Amino acid sequence: ASAGAPDPKIARRLAGVKNIILVLSGKGGVGKSSVAAQLALSLSSNSGPASSSSSDGGRQAARVGLLDIDLTGPSIPRMLGLDGQSIRQSTDGWVPVYADASQRLAVMSVGFLLRSNNDSVVWRGPKKNAMIKQFLGDVRWGQLDYLVIDTPPGTSDEHISLMEYLHHFAPRAVLVTTPQAISLADNVRTLDFCKKTGLPLVGLIENMSGYVCPHCAECTNVWGKGGGEALANREGLEFLGRIPIDPRLVRVLDDAKEVAATQISNGDQKDEDGQSRLT
Ligand code: ADP
Repeated sequence: ASAGAPDPKIARRLAGVKNIILVLSGKGGVGKSSVAAQLALSLSSNSGPASSSSSDGGRQAARVGLLDIDLTGPSIPRMLGLDGQSIRQSTDGWVPVYADASQRLAVMSVGFLLRSNNDSVVWRGPKKNAMIKQFLGDVRWGQLDYLVIDTPPGTSDEHISLMEYLHHFAPRAVLVTTPQAISLADNVRTLDFCKKTGLPLVGLIENMSGYVCPHCAECTNVWGKGGGEALANREGLEFLGRIPIDPRLVRVLDDAKEVAATQISNGDQKDEDGQSRLT
């Protein structure tokens, strides 16, 4: 991260943002975007896990922004049923697309800028950098409790640009991994990037951890299990929980006729409790 003063436009836009969370993964296809979408949905709805601090057992819905800069495949619009929507320009900058009627979940995606779903994005470094700067400096995010950023897989130009613009605003990261060894090796490189750029990690989520049979709800360890937790322990990271492979999640995410939040189970719980629950 470079030193110096923050970009004044970005500083003005992010003045009302309390927490910035980057969602990272060592490689593609591990469910990073799914986790980013579920995290944003869960935080912005009050049907998520109850907070220990709330007296009524419920949880207060937060104001959340979800920024998708995954140029390799901007899947957030599809996952939230927002395909075909476009960004509106106002006199005070770009207006995000709201995913819910109560306007608690504001979404910006590079996907909204593409003419069709099938457009491939082949942008060079400087253009990517300009796009990220614009998403951070031109969007009317307003007051947000969380700005969740879905980043491309691995560590690339986009991550370097993000850290250059965001390091003044104390961003933190969540790492998504599968239990497989190859994914874990890629994650070591991602962890290295975090150390070098001074990006603290909130913790690690193990996705596609075992398979929940839709008929008997029993969990089978197709690709093994626990690799993410072992990595978290080894690196001194908090293990945030595991999400099993769940065919219902594929339907919800790839179809997006309905929007649902999955509870991320606590890693200390038993298998029976480790299943994702769709509400
Ligand atoms: P990434 O962002 O890491 O490339 P995605 O979030 O796009 O990965 O997920 C890749 C595919 O895997 C998507 O089709 C998604 O629906 C599916 N998927 C992700 N997590 C799960 C899960 N826990 N169970 C079943 N399918 C999943």
